[in-house]
Amino acid sequence: MWYNTAMCMLTKTTEFPLSPLPGPLLAWFRENARDLPWRRTRDPYPIWVSEIMLQQTRVAAVLGYYARFLTAFPSVEALAGAPEERLMKCWEGLGYYSRARNLHKAARQVAEAGGFPETYEGLLALPGIGPYTAAAVASAAFGVREAAVDGNVLRVVTRLLDCREDIAQPRVKAWVRDRVREVLPSAAEDMRIFNQATMELGATVCVPNGPPRCEACPAGDWCLARRRGTAQTLPVKSGKKPRRTEELTVFVLLRQGRTALRRRPDTGLLAGLWEFPHVPGTLDEAAAAAAVEAWGLRPLDWHSRLAARHIFTHVEWHMTGYVLEVRGEGPEDFLWTDRADFEARAVPSAFTRYTEAARELLESPDGAPPAGGGEERT
Ligand code: SF4
Repeated sequence: MWYNTAMCMLTKTTEFPLSPLPGPLLAWFRENARDLPWRRTRDPYPIWVSEIMLQQTRVAAVLGYYARFLTAFPSVEALAGAPEERLMKCWEGLGYYSRARNLHKAARQVAEAGGFPETYEGLLALPGIGPYTAAAVASAAFGVREAAVDGNVLRVVTRLLDCREDIAQPRVKAWVRDRVREVLPSAAEDMRIFNQATMELGATVCVPNGPPRCEACPAGDWCLARRRGTAQTLPVKSGKKPRRTEELTVFVLLRQGRTALRRRPDTGLLAGLWEFPHVPGTLDEAAAAAAVEAWGLRPLDWHSRLAARHIFTHVEWHMTGYVLEVRGEGPEDFLWTDRADFEARAVPSAFTRYTEAARELLESPDGAPPAGGGEERT
């Protein structure tokens, strides 16, 4: 019965090594699942929104965004008809903004077609929906039999089977998906929760950081990694490329109660969002003044210097920022925003420190600098 090799060899076996899983797993989930808002519905629209938001983002961080998003765009038709700027503003701070753009494109296709496709393949054809998301939405909304394999499922399955292969390899992911497919429940009601249950087990019991809670696990009696004491070494994942560091000097430029923003290019990191003007490198005040003058602006009054860092998936920004009053027009791509216009623009959370500084100054009735200017902190 047991899949009793030293490590999985990615071969098709005549045994069904996960076959004891579904019954206890589904019973456990029905008893122990977290009450999350997207689990209270079978409507594919909110389920899809939640799945897109949850990519690369923790549940706790998603909850507030999810509620606000569905209030702003209560149906796929409302989302399809919304201006992109409004959508991006709603997404501000959630990161990975291409998700929001694809959500918009897909919403238009769905609204035009008169509703969501009800198959795995149909969902997979929509922008921004990969195999995992298509399987997660199809199963939760329509009871479709397809395995949704995310990082949680990879961890649970490699531990259950004591699989020591590198999950960064596509063939290993495919092998895991095939093993899960072998044990998918046949009843639609069970299938609606099966993928969620496996992920929930990975998120709350077979956890990634720290020891798994095997004593609370519905598969604890037969898990191979538990028996062999290998759980915390699994899954095996080859190292990622080290993140590169970029140094930037960011400017919060103030001119008669307005601050300058400019739009990022339509492709690449933070595509199409609004940013504070910045230049590469860490500039001292003299070099910063020269950079401001190169934009055709005259520095008048330097308020503060603010340091900040932001970590993206592949790059880390180390920022030095200057808040200063200027005179002049500046380049054509500078948009001088008043408080209302500033608040309507989606500025990524990488600039939070500078957004706060700008907001404080734009709030001041006379545009006076905030108290305590001049300090530096990271
Ligand atoms: Fe994970 Fe422990 Fe459950 Fe095995 S018994 S799946 S290691 S929590």
